[in-house]
Amino acid sequence: MTMALLEVQDLTKEFVVERSLLGAQRATLRAVHNVSFKMAPGETLGIVGESGCGKTTLGRLILRLLDPTGGSIRFDGQDITHLSLRQMRGLRQDIQVVFQDPYSSLNPRLTVRAIIGEPLSNFGFSTAEITRRVGEVMEVVGLQPDTMDRNPHAFSGGQRQRIGIARALALRPKLIVCDEAVSALDVSIQAQILNLLADIQQEFGLTLLFISHNLGVIRHVSHRIAVMYLGEIVELATERDLFENPLHPYTRALISAVPEADIHERTERVPLDGEIPSPVNPPPGCPFHTRCPIARPRCGSDLPDYREWSPRRMVRCHFPGEALPTFAETATERALP
Ligand code: SF4
Repeated sequence: MTMALLEVQDLTKEFVVERSLLGAQRATLRAVHNVSFKMAPGETLGIVGESGCGKTTLGRLILRLLDPTGGSIRFDGQDITHLSLRQMRGLRQDIQVVFQDPYSSLNPRLTVRAIIGEPLSNFGFSTAEITRRVGEVMEVVGLQPDTMDRNPHAFSGGQRQRIGIARALALRPKLIVCDEAVSALDVSIQAQILNLLADIQQEFGLTLLFISHNLGVIRHVSHRIAVMYLGEIVELATERDLFENPLHPYTRALISAVPEADIHERTERVPLDGEIPSPVNPPPGCPFHTRCPIARPRCGSDLPDYREWSPRRMVRCHFPGEALPTFAETATERALP
């Protein structure tokens, strides 16, 4: 079996937050809780969930921009859980990131040559080699190398995100974390950037961790998908299994909300009422029970195990795959006296 490039085991991140203005009361916010998964080299894993589910914190933990509270991260056979910033610098060659906002993530005062070339310069590449590599990656992402001495404001939003991708590619990394990489772009541009990422992933055998709140976007690029809710992975499956046979009620609600005709023909519309509970005060039992349309008394007290449904398929629910009430049924119930 191929060795995992990235292996995350029981990863947890808690933050201490002030509950009163004067800081007299403190509480623990559980952003990521006992998250485990492996990624094979060349795989794209999508992480999806609503805002506040912990997916961005998870990405930042893997990038080691945050220190975990518990659990471990292994990258390419090395335990990187507690590496210092200085020790991580060496690994920056192998792990790169593409951020959400192509407007604010690029320094407007620098030229594109300096922006894409900065990681190369940090690793001691010569000026001539930097120019050569910058031109090369600009071509890979569909930009004209003869525009490398312009500033980012001379480029459109989609082109700026291509600059961000070129910068991430410059050091020829093994893993790229894409955090909401297309969320700030128009829908038509999103598709171009997603196609570009898929092409690059294939051409270079890159491993991509793709984080988004948008399941339609995640589906476009991912081999496997992990669904997060309140800091935990509640279902992990191949893209095909997840869409053809979603097991967790939350996954089914998310899929039913994807605005794609081909999905709605096959899937019931599942209502998803209520707010996400506070991660400062998560509910006991199953974290989804306050919103789950099929919750039973047991769900409010017993946390379901994260169990293997089939090889490479995990789900955390006491009643996986059970039929859910549709919008039509729920509306009828509400109309009854
Ligand atoms: Fe719903 Fe219960 Fe499954 Fe949680 S364990 S998702 S509340 S059915």
